[in-house]
Amino acid sequence: MREKSERTGEVRCLACFERFRVPKGMEKMACPNCGGEWYISWSGPLAKIRKPVWESWERREALEMQQNNEP
Ligand SMILES: [Zn+2]
Repeated sequence: MREKSERTGEVRCLACFERFRVPKGMEKMACPNCGGEWYISWSGPLAKIRKPVWESWERREALEMQQNNEP
């Protein structure tokens, strides 16, 4: 039996275009595929990506740069 709530809270990552589910009421969620973090807005049961969590992306980029700079 399929629950009606199964597809609610599903968003598509704007970075890697993978779909993932957001637990109801969550305002921030990291994509399980690429790890990018997003602010989530809700209209009723539907979740939508609002904008990136820049601190999180900057941290990731800084990390990647550190890794690239390894001798
Ligand atoms: Zn992603």
